[in-house]
Amino acid sequence: MADTLVLRALRGNAKLLDLSGKKLRRVPKAVGRLRELNRLLLRNNQIAELPAELQALNNLTELNLGNNSLESLPEVLKHLRKLRKLHLFGNKLDKLSPSVFEWLDNLVFLNLCNNKLTTLPEELYRLAELKYLNVNNNQLESIPSKLCVLQRLCELHLANNELKSLPHEIGYLTNLKKLSVARNQIQELPEELCVLRNLKVLDVAGNQLSIFPTKLLELKLEEFYFEQNPLLKKHLISSIQQNEVLTLQEITARYILDELKYNSLKATFKYYPKARKILDHASICAVCKKSFLNTWLECVNFVDVTKEISMTSPACIVPVRVLLCSYKCFNQSGHQYYGIAVL
Ligand SMILES: [Zn+2]
Repeated sequence: MADTLVLRALRGNAKLLDLSGKKLRRVPKAVGRLRELNRLLLRNNQIAELPAELQALNNLTELNLGNNSLESLPEVLKHLRKLRKLHLFGNKLDKLSPSVFEWLDNLVFLNLCNNKLTTLPEELYRLAELKYLNVNNNQLESIPSKLCVLQRLCELHLANNELKSLPHEIGYLTNLKKLSVARNQIQELPEELCVLRNLKVLDVAGNQLSIFPTKLLELKLEEFYFEQNPLLKKHLISSIQQNEVLTLQEITARYILDELKYNSLKATFKYYPKARKILDHASICAVCKKSFLNTWLECVNFVDVTKEISMTSPACIVPVRVLLCSYKCFNQSGHQYYGIAVL
């Protein structure tokens, strides 16, 4: 049956060959003679390897190997230099051979969902044209930070894995529109996530989050999913405040950061790159707007996000992290920030 289809395709110089759902255990070697082929669909079979003859398919732009029995990436893939779409969902892949990705520099779409991957090779960063990456339903414990150099990436799907955190470098994915990390073990989202001004859809449902990053509302989200997280709740209790004793470094840093605003120190400061590096980590108090370095009060602001973001969750109040410089600011009236108590 499959052989008949290949023969017919050979005679007609076909651009598309669809051998989906034909119970194939191997791909007929004659497929390698279809030099004009653009699309090869092999999904829903029992293929465990690919014949070397496929390397002759110089014009192939789409290869669908979804729902098969591949345990490793076939090396022949690296010869398919024009490939733009590669479907590998529903196989038995537990790791990806990095060498394959060195050559697929036209790849735009890569679907790896429903496999057994525990890591991703950092060589994925070579896929400079990649716009869509789906690794849902795997066993990833982390993602390589180098993945964040994929400047064209628009969609990143990492739901149903075992991720504990996201790399700080995520802020470099400036074209990202959709990010799904639903149903992982993430305890904290990196502050850098909030610089992704093109992000429209964020799905963090089913994680271990208790609070959101300070600049959450700077994101221009259209959809935001965050149900099933142990988010901080508003229960008012009284507490004892112990006034902080600032270190000499903190006092000096606050003084310098303040002076820098008025330019009086800027000129001298350029001779002290070490000091400048330290002060780069300064934050700004949400009440008095002055800068501080290492000593702060972590507070929470309960923000109603329904006005800004269309929601699916019935809850519309989310806890957002707020940093204050001192109890003096905390005790000032006119703000709605709450201290955090561990009960
Ligand atoms: Zn303050």
